[in-house]
Amino acid sequence: MNNIIDLDKKYVLPTYARADVEFVSGDNARLVDANGKKYIDFASGIAVVSVGHANKRVNDAICKQLSNITHTSNLYYIAPQARAAQKIVEASGYDMKCFFGNSGAEANEGAIKIARKFGEKDGEIKRYKVITLQHSFHGRTITTVKATGQAYMHNYFGPYPDGFVYAENIEHVESLVDAHTCAVMIELVQGEGGVQPLDKEAVQKLAKFLKSKDVLLIVDEVQTGVYRTGKFLASNYYDIEPDVVTLAKGLGGGVPIGVVMTTLKDIFSAGDHGSTFGGNFLSTAAACEVVDILNEMNESGELQKNIEYFDSELEKFYNAHKDIFTSKVGIGMMCGLRVKDGETLAKIISNAREEGVIVLRAGKDTLRLLPALTITKKEVDEGFKSLNSAVTSL
Ligand SMILES: *Cc1c(COP(=O)(O)O)cnc(C)c1O
Repeated sequence: MNNIIDLDKKYVLPTYARADVEFVSGDNARLVDANGKKYIDFASGIAVVSVGHANKRVNDAICKQLSNITHTSNLYYIAPQARAAQKIVEASGYDMKCFFGNSGAEANEGAIKIARKFGEKDGEIKRYKVITLQHSFHGRTITTVKATGQAYMHNYFGPYPDGFVYAENIEHVESLVDAHTCAVMIELVQGEGGVQPLDKEAVQKLAKFLKSKDVLLIVDEVQTGVYRTGKFLASNYYDIEPDVVTLAKGLGGGVPIGVVMTTLKDIFSAGDHGSTFGGNFLSTAAACEVVDILNEMNESGELQKNIEYFDSELEKFYNAHKDIFTSKVGIGMMCGLRVKDGETLAKIISNAREEGVIVLRAGKDTLRLLPALTITKKEVDEGFKSLNSAVTSL
């Protein structure tokens, strides 16, 4: 471990405040570090390892694919890409087409390009403005950092692309729509912003208003997507029909992948957008298996059972510690507990790690829990036992 810390410090740019731990193996919601210490993982690599660590079905699908072919470029047909697109579109329930990239930020870049092209061809004036929400998070590229409505992220990297407008909240969006607006981009449950679900009626009202103004609704489901909230998309839960949806984190079970999907099937022509790696055999073979597994769990009722059990144990934990936590937020397996102050939250996260359970922060004051959707009762029980010790020793 010391050797790895030294190598990291010497050769890796210090963009992450890394915790002092090196994981070496995992099994579903269990992790083991380099010292042999065992943990329960309530974070899933920030909602990425949706079907658990070392999932046998996903690993077998990847190995089988890799023993044939990994990459050819998008100049040729790619069977698992076409199949993944079909599975994603069918699971979404929307009449859309997909473009594959490699990350959430890249998916959102694609969404913004769709919106800008839509604004270009539609009517006499160029519509280019994209409205996003304060406390949102849309990625780390220059454009998606600017799309992110958090001023502290706009410090050093300008000049930025023009045309991003921030609404204080969902109710405030409508008043910002003008003749130059081409799209509104929102997360239905803000992930990094504090696991706060938007009000369903407010979202439905906005969706209807945007349709009437011919302004696109882009839903960033990079974190909420692929059953994280209990349905394939949080948009399904909100009962809306977005024009553009982006996915990434949970889709590849740990393999990098991002998707932008849209009802505007003719918006791009050949050459308008592209990616060298996007949608290659490796990532889309993994995504096909992940979606199959989760579709099966959804149909059998197992997914709902897992969510209910986790939620009931979280509720018990919350009720036992109301001196520390002020509210319980989230939907499905995207859960948060508001902590009375940020200092206590930092302490909880490090204590939890000491006690052998991995949890996350969101925003200033939210403890965020994003377990694998395949987490077992035993794993849930062990995790909350450790979390109880972590807050009792505060
Ligand atoms: C994580 C996240 C992103 C960025 O995804 P990357 O894969 O890190 O580029 C964008 N939007 C939301 C809502 C996210 O949670």
